[in-house]
This record gives sequence, C-alpha cells and structure tokens, in this order.
Amino acid sequence: MLRLYNEQTRQLEPFQPQGDVATIYVCGITPYDTTHLGHAFTYLSFDVLIRYWEHLGYAVRYVQNVTDIDDDVLRKSREVDEDWLALGNRWTTHFMRDLRDLNVRPPDVFPRATDVIPEMFHAIGALISKGLAYEADGNVYYSVAANPHFGKLSGLPKEEWLPTANERGNNPEDPLKRDPLDFVLWQAHQPGEPVWESPWGPGRPGWHIECSTMANAYLGSTVDVHGGGADLAFPHHECETAQMCGVTGQEQFARFWLHTAMVRYQGEKMSKSLGNLIWARDLLAHHSPDAIRLMVNAHPYYETWEYDEAEMDPADRLSEQLLIAVSAPSGEEAPLPVGDAVTRFEEALDDNLNTRQALAALEDFSERIIEAANDGQSVAEAQEALRRLCRVFGLRLDGTFEPRVQVGWERHLQRFQ
Ligand SMILES: [Zn+2]
Repeated sequence: MLRLYNEQTRQLEPFQPQGDVATIYVCGITPYDTTHLGHAFTYLSFDVLIRYWEHLGYAVRYVQNVTDIDDDVLRKSREVDEDWLALGNRWTTHFMRDLRDLNVRPPDVFPRATDVIPEMFHAIGALISKGLAYEADGNVYYSVAANPHFGKLSGLPKEEWLPTANERGNNPEDPLKRDPLDFVLWQAHQPGEPVWESPWGPGRPGWHIECSTMANAYLGSTVDVHGGGADLAFPHHECETAQMCGVTGQEQFARFWLHTAMVRYQGEKMSKSLGNLIWARDLLAHHSPDAIRLMVNAHPYYETWEYDEAEMDPADRLSEQLLIAVSAPSGEEAPLPVGDAVTRFEEALDDNLNTRQALAALEDFSERIIEAANDGQSVAEAQEALRRLCRVFGLRLDGTFEPRVQVGWERHLQRFQ
C-alpha cells in the first residue's frame, strides 16, 4: 500500500484516490527564465509519483499550470523590453521542451492562469460575499484575520508569517490593506500592465487565486494531491487553501499536500535570485536524459540535497548498465526468476516514494540479469519486468520516446507558439 507524507497532517498516510481517477495539481513555472535543476527535481519527482500511480493501475488526471501573468513576468518584460505574452510563451516553450526531452509524462491539462479569469471572478465574488475578502480602491484583498484556520497547512509559527511572505512577493506597505498579511486577489490596473475588466474595475489577478482557481476548474473542489516546491508551502499554498476552502465551504482543498525539497549548489539554495543555477538544458547537452533522471531521482523528493557534478558519473554508469541488461541476448538455460525484484522496488516506492531504494533495487536486478545472460540463462521474462520498472522512472533505455510524451507535449506546445 502506497503511503505518502501528508504535509497537512504531518504524518505518513495510506494513499488511495477518492474517485475513479487520481487527481493531482502541481504548481507550474512562472515563465521568465528557463528550467534549472530545482525545477527539474520538482517535476521529475512528481513524474515518478504519477507514473507509479499508473503502474499501480490508477487512471490519472494531472494539471500543471503556467503562471503567465505575475509580478515577476511583468518586471522581466520591462527589463528586457519584450511583450509579457511573447516573453512568457518563449520561456514556457523552453520549459516544455526540457520536460519532454527528460521524458516527463505531459500534464493532461496545461492551463495558463489567464485561461480562468471569469472563474476567478466567481471565486473572488464568493469570498467577498462571505466576509473573507474586501474591496479597496479597485483592489480586492483576502482578509487573513477572518480565517481562524490560516497557518494550519504550513504549520509556520505566527511570528514568521509576515517576514516569510515579504520574502516571497508580499507588499506589507500597501496602505489599502487592513493587515499587512492580507494578500491581493485582484489588483487595480497600473500603467503599462496588461488589463482585464472585472466587477471591481480594470486590473489583473493576484498570484494565489490563479492556482486555486485552475485546480478547481480542471479537477473539481477537492484534489487528491496538490504539489509544488517546498518554498511554495508558505504563503502560496497556505493562501490557496484558505481561499478555496472559503469558496467551497469544505474543510480541505487537497487531501494530500506534498512538497519537494530544495536543491542546493555551492553551499546555497539554487535560486534565480542567487544566480547559482544549473540548467537542465546544459546537462542534456552532456548526458543522456536517463542519466539525468537517475541522478536527480536518486534523491527522494523530501530530502534537501546539494548538486555535485561527480554524481553524474554513477548515474551515467547505471544508465548504461540498465540498457545492457534490457538488451542482453537471452539464452537457452534455465530462466532467471524475477524473484523479489518487483516487490523490493514497489516496497521502496510505497514508503513515501523512496526513489533511492527503488533505484538500488533496479541496479541489483539489472546486475542479476546481466550475470544470468552471460551464463546463458533465459532472461526474457526478467527483462520485461525490468523494462516495466524502468518506465516508472521515465527511462527511455534505448532512446526511443514514449509516443504519448511526444504527442502530449507537442499538443501543449502549439498553444504557446
Ligand atoms: Zn501555485
């Protein structure tokens, strides 16, 4: 039985989808730069979860968004003097190609935040009518003080709320706010910014309302898993759940909240603001996608780790070893039993996606296959089992694309060109 660490309850809980289809929403990128290893870690970790669900026989509906309108996009667009939409489309297509080349299963829906503006009006209107949001001079703010459950998801101590929010986009100086922690749902039009008409006047949406509205629009009022990087836990996910529970009246917006740990490089968190970035595209220029996935997924999603290029060596070797194992000629001697290889692999992933242990099981299994094939044993059945397990890690082995990966990303790419 798959057990996942649920950030909401802070414990390991058995996971089963609530309906016929397992639903997952993962916060996507804000497209003003390309894909670094921190992003890759998030999307490759969730790719393993989704692929493992499929391996277990669940149908999956996966939504990942693009935060196409946001302070960062507009700032960058002014800096480089490029239209915000063209800039966003350019970086989104880079990102999609990176994920495609890493053989990431494409999301079923890949919406832009601006696809759901009318739905945001509905959500914001509901929050105002319930006394959870207020209008001020063409802006609408969520009233944090009106929600006694605020802060429960992240568990962050109250004294850290404001400094953390300020680091991550909050403007405490805004004189229209009743409380510096209140966050913007709709912001009045500023000169030079794109604009939408709304019931509160012209303007654009706030960041947090975008994600919760997309999740609700494409997956319904409760999702099985809501995921994202750990730096989104507060305030982004806290605000998302506050809003959506306010709109629906439900106690929870996601049944499970999962956060991927941070990737460090040269002693610090890898981040755009620090500039200490390793780009997925640069790694792809020197290593196979399989080797990159093996290196990244050797780190379970919940462990902070530091990138060291020396880690690519064992990953390159394992990638070659797996290819040798699945393509070794099968002999006539007694067949190699699959034995406990599949169980060991599944037990590792059942344990809150311990990808490190699952990869160790793959490595051992591939060694046994190579030895048995060298001894002239029949390994066809074991090879088939190994291929099946490799698919959970999105490994391409002999380099051929999964057709659904190519077709799925191509379909999404067309909307951003
Ligand atoms: Zn989000």
